Amino acid sequence: MRRSACALVCLVLTAACTHEAVAPSAGSAPAPAAAPQSKPVDMARLLGAGGDGDNWLTYGRTYDEHRFSPLKQITAANVAGLKPAWHYDLPVDARAQESTPLIIDGMMYVTAAWSRVFALDAATGALKWTYDPQVPGHTGVNACCDVVNRGLAAWLGRLYLGTLDGRLVALDAATGKPAWAVSTIPAGSRYTITGAPRIIKGKVIIGNGGGEESGRGFVSAYDAQTGKLIWRFYTVPGQPGVKDGAASDEILAKLASRTWRGQWWKYGGGGTVWDAMAYDPQLDLLYFGTDNGGPWNKKFRSPGTSDDLFITSIIAVRPDTGEYVWHFQNSPGEMWDYSATQSLVLADLTINGQMRHVIMQAPKNGYFYVLDRQTGKPISIHQYVDTLNWAKGVDPVTGRPGPGGGHNWMPMSFSPQTGLVYIPVIEIGFPYIGQTQYHPTALTFNVGVDLNAGSLPQDPIIKAAAIKGLKGHLAAWDPVAQKEVWRVEVGHPWNGGTLATAGHVVYEGDAMGRFNAYNDTDGKLLWSVSTGTGILAPPVSYGVGGRQYIAVETGWGGAFPLSAGELALKSQLNRGNIPRLIVFALDGTDTLPPTPPASTAVLAALPELGDAAQIAQGKLLYHTFCGTCHGDSAVSSGVLPDLRYAAALRDGDLFQRIVHDGILEPKGMVAFGSLLDPQSIELIRTYVTHRVNESVAEAKAPGARITASTLQ
Ligand code: CA
Repeated sequence: MRRSACALVCLVLTAACTHEAVAPSAGSAPAPAAAPQSKPVDMARLLGAGGDGDNWLTYGRTYDEHRFSPLKQITAANVAGLKPAWHYDLPVDARAQESTPLIIDGMMYVTAAWSRVFALDAATGALKWTYDPQVPGHTGVNACCDVVNRGLAAWLGRLYLGTLDGRLVALDAATGKPAWAVSTIPAGSRYTITGAPRIIKGKVIIGNGGGEESGRGFVSAYDAQTGKLIWRFYTVPGQPGVKDGAASDEILAKLASRTWRGQWWKYGGGGTVWDAMAYDPQLDLLYFGTDNGGPWNKKFRSPGTSDDLFITSIIAVRPDTGEYVWHFQNSPGEMWDYSATQSLVLADLTINGQMRHVIMQAPKNGYFYVLDRQTGKPISIHQYVDTLNWAKGVDPVTGRPGPGGGHNWMPMSFSPQTGLVYIPVIEIGFPYIGQTQYHPTALTFNVGVDLNAGSLPQDPIIKAAAIKGLKGHLAAWDPVAQKEVWRVEVGHPWNGGTLATAGHVVYEGDAMGRFNAYNDTDGKLLWSVSTGTGILAPPVSYGVGGRQYIAVETGWGGAFPLSAGELALKSQLNRGNIPRLIVFALDGTDTLPPTPPASTAVLAALPELGDAAQIAQGKLLYHTFCGTCHGDSAVSSGVLPDLRYAAALRDGDLFQRIVHDGILEPKGMVAFGSLLDPQSIELIRTYVTHRVNESVAEAKAPGARITASTLQ
């Protein structure tokens, strides 16, 4: 069993696949009604978003992040008649696409890889404008989990975008022109923004990622009008005695700093706020979730027994000031890349005959939490994944959910009609083998875990067992009874976020590229269509001119596919990776283009470049510097080019110019010359060449399964 670690060292040996813009095909759909006059998105509209089924005004549709559409033109009875209404091929790199589109008065605003933004007519798919923040290619190496973006926020005629290189940009929603832009991170730091901002009373709330890159977590609030920083909250303490001048100063000094050991501030500490937030307007509380400790290995981060507040915590603050109100830590002193950054969903539930105002989360550690959202006190906690042994802390090798966790960023949804939460559940094991020494660098994954020791064994029996052990399912969870009501085995991990609707249909895309509709009460599959590309993004529903639409972005990638190599290959084998927005309706008449033919590239044996000792050295270097992006054991699962097929592998000079000199930096492949000398780079080439020959031998073995695909 092995890792799904986040990605880092991005070695792009051939040009990343891009797709030309294609005119949207609206088919012969009925002409939409004229778009209503656009009204500014203000607090009144955001607070009333629950009943406004035509629009999707904020990341989770409503401040309580239900991802529940009140529209019910499409129902469990008629969803089988769903057809594509239009599609738009996003002209971006074929990386993970994770965006939740915003829908505002007949317009769709969607983001894509490298923080790009597209404004489309929501009824026809016609492109109105596009915005490219020109994120420098070298930023890609700082992104643990692909060059993704999850969406925008809207406020008073503007849209707000967090860019991968840490900027917050305000765009005119009518034209896509920037009104202002500020950097939200210290110059030269490795933070990235992949999550969607939220806007509360004119303040743009934004966090960032970087818990694998020596980051110290913080979340900030900016004035939506001017871009001025209003408050900042650091989630873990800095150097003792040094104040940040931030909203968190008092609580960190009073409480959190006592829960750390050693000299954690030299290593970052972690606790980044890269995704989940929610807002309760009655309590006037903003909730956000924090990530793992950094580095993962506690021995280096904060040696000994300590909680290390506020890593893996839900924190409640006042949105106007950032003042701390409460926190709840799910994995004290964690050391497994566990987090509390998964969806935060607010609901009012009757529990033991009493109405409770709760906040719910299914974080990576495998337990479903129901907390009182006024106080942060737990109401109930129950295991939601089958295999769980981290809490016993006994077996470091098998079984416990890996860094991918029981649930990752893919949002869960909540239906007030059924009272159920729909969770995309993951089961991916991982061997946590600590390093004996910690040497963080400016270009690598700095986690203190030996990624080479955990690489997939090439013994065919062990390998087959490891691949078979990967699982994923859609769970319908009753948060009152704390039990699973139904589940659908998807057959693979790393599937898409979910959408619940008043038509009693739950939607989810999957790793195999199917987009599926399930009955929300029993999980019966009602409809499924193959899109040809793995789906991670959560679907949305909206209405224009009295017609209900279901929209989803396709595009495969992220932490698990980038890093897991052959383990992730089976989900995407022989498929394309097309960044595309697909919109369905009951009377849709669009036709999706055929899936590109599978690659027919065949590997041929190469002369070995070194002896067994040199191959072993190259393997260590590969898994330290390359594997988190280019895949375990030099097998790509279809996101970045498979190095075994790369022309540069067969040209030692070209290999040096790419890896040492960085000639492909605009594509995200930075120069490693500052960390690796030419001899080390040649050892990496020696190892990958050996992997070519191993793959050729495996393909010739009796009963061999297909293991190779270029997919690019
Ligand atoms: Ca993490």
